[in-house]
Amino acid sequence: MSALISWVSVVLDLPLGGPFDYRATAPVSIGDRVIVPFGRRKMIGVVVDLPAQPSYDPTLIKDVEQVLQDVAPLTQSWIRFARFAADYYQRPLGEVVLPALPSPLRSLAAYQGKRAAGGPVARLDKRRKVSQHTATPSTAPILNVGQQAAIDAIDASQGFKAFLLFGVTGSGKTEVYLHAAARTLARGKRVLMLVPEINLTPQFEQSLRARLEPVAGPEGVAVLHSALSDGERLRAWLSVQRGQARIVLGTRLSIFAPIDDLGLLVVDEEHDASYKQQDGLRYSARDLAVWRAHDLNVPIVLGSATPSLESWVNAQKKNYHRLDLPDRAREVTLPSVRLVDTRRLQMEHGLSPHLITAMRERLANKEQVLIFLNRRGYAPALHCNSCGWVSQCSRCTTFTVLHRATQGRNQLHCHHCGYQQRVPKGCPECGDQDMQPMGRGTQRIEEHLAELFPEARVLRIDADSTRKKGSAQALFASVHAGEVDILVGTQMVAKGHDFANLGLVGVLNADAMLFSQDFRAPERLFAQLMQVAGRAGRHTGHGEVMVQTGYPEQPVYQALLKHDYTGFAQHTIREREAACLPPFSHQALLSAEARELNTALDFLTAAREIATTLAAQLDCAGLITLYDPVPLRIVRVDNMCRAQLLIESTHRPSMQQLLRYWLAELNQNPDTRRIGWQLEVDPLEI
Ligand code: ADP
Ligand code: ZN
Ligand code: ZN
Repeated sequence: MSALISWVSVVLDLPLGGPFDYRATAPVSIGDRVIVPFGRRKMIGVVVDLPAQPSYDPTLIKDVEQVLQDVAPLTQSWIRFARFAADYYQRPLGEVVLPALPSPLRSLAAYQGKRAAGGPVARLDKRRKVSQHTATPSTAPILNVGQQAAIDAIDASQGFKAFLLFGVTGSGKTEVYLHAAARTLARGKRVLMLVPEINLTPQFEQSLRARLEPVAGPEGVAVLHSALSDGERLRAWLSVQRGQARIVLGTRLSIFAPIDDLGLLVVDEEHDASYKQQDGLRYSARDLAVWRAHDLNVPIVLGSATPSLESWVNAQKKNYHRLDLPDRAREVTLPSVRLVDTRRLQMEHGLSPHLITAMRERLANKEQVLIFLNRRGYAPALHCNSCGWVSQCSRCTTFTVLHRATQGRNQLHCHHCGYQQRVPKGCPECGDQDMQPMGRGTQRIEEHLAELFPEARVLRIDADSTRKKGSAQALFASVHAGEVDILVGTQMVAKGHDFANLGLVGVLNADAMLFSQDFRAPERLFAQLMQVAGRAGRHTGHGEVMVQTGYPEQPVYQALLKHDYTGFAQHTIREREAACLPPFSHQALLSAEARELNTALDFLTAAREIATTLAAQLDCAGLITLYDPVPLRIVRVDNMCRAQLLIESTHRPSMQQLLRYWLAELNQNPDTRRIGWQLEVDPLEI
């Protein structure tokens, strides 16, 4: 592949354009990182092609300054994968390739200057190995019939096959992953396992290490997620790239881990919205994982108790092969669900008498109780009783949330732009001192519970109580150690945790999600409720879930009563099909922001016209629906007004083609440079 003088095309981490051509005078391969001049600066880029001829005047082409060879080049297969992601999500290849590397490998400062000393890899290798504490090996339980059948099916698949592991909460899906992974390792292949949020499920990492380290070796397990420091991430990435790590456990970004000799991919909780990156390259790690498995011709397991409707429909169409775990793995039943109709009840601080009685019984029985409320802070707003003033963010069209301070004055926080201020002494409008919190957040519920159950130990787990690194782990550990009687929390407590002694789950204010504009809201609410319900009675059985609602007749709640995912999915799929919504159509979202709402809307209107013309030229107008530009529900955030334009099509290739031409035009248009805009393919939130 190398020659004395060669042309190379290089991608850089730039929002526009590329690849860029350079001349290399040293041996270089595809996948090598190079230092190149760009404008007046220098950058690290990656060689993605060795063209026979440059694409423009050779006399204008600059030289590669240095070929970095401290790590082996990225493989052709990996670059193919990155190329797919870039094409599919309509971003420049460089914006996929470079952010996928640990930052020291793409930072010029790490290679130049006094402290460079041969670069970050050489420095890391010189440093003493951090002694990894090895996990104490644990033994597997005896598998049940469903688990055994699932493992055998995965093991028997030759080449690509997508499995949808549909197992109720507590059905032992983890066990299936671990066995399938162990068999893959035994065949000399490697495993990539994705989880939604690693720091929320240290249990998962623990059991994985305990069970697979004996097979994979002490350095055989690598963990990759965004909370790692640069050095930690580089170390983990290198151990993957050098083939030491045999099994990689990670969050969405680890789909870009540099492994080709995979034998198995696993996506746990495949329905989880955390798999979607929300800025830059807005990819779905789940969808990319399926592509990667297909490209590498290996099996992939997507696991969930509440699969995304996309995956469910794929299973119905037999694109995916379904594996069912209908029962809990331990000898326990699913919790019973009770809907508490709050319309006719006298509530006490947002808690119904039924829930309070049930809590008393469980606590007397030395069981733990979880109160789930997806709203952090003390109260969603502060309100003046005299004049009706409500605390609002000056930069956003939202209320500011009241937060109780442990010391000093209480604060008002904006959850959208981060703005914080102290609570004013009197009403800013009328000066009255009689200001009251409006509604309830986790802090306020925690306070009420401490009053109602003075003998109980109450703990709150949410984004506020877990700001410090490692604090979430410590708090969860105290729950597992039985040092907590009542746990109050947001969705952080709902996911994945295997609480042994939790008997009752109370759900407050679920209705808030019921009437959202977003057509996916019921699907998300149902998944969330099933998840949090699944925390009850996991080891003891006889768990109970109480959902307080003013709309018990809603299909979401009726399905929850029976743990009936299948029925709920059926109902929702019929609605989606009738309305031609995903998965029966494909969507893309062009969003724009500007100081004035009209600027954003005008941009989208102009963009819509361009798209209409293009669709006619490309002869696909009949296949594409372009909706009207609309302001977002929360129109102003951080003083920027936001609007969006939805594109829909039942024919993905036509839409992808239109998007490609459309983006090219929008990028060229000088008017569009003055406004912030972006395109998202397969948006999850609308
Ligand atoms: P899921 O991920 O499906 O919600 P888990 O994998 O967390 O469920 O398993 C739930 C519980 O059941 C765990 O405590 C696990 O140790 C236990 N378990 C799993 N498989 C078996 C089995 N075959 N026999 C007994 N217990 C099991
Ligand atoms: Zn007032
Ligand atoms: Zn704000």
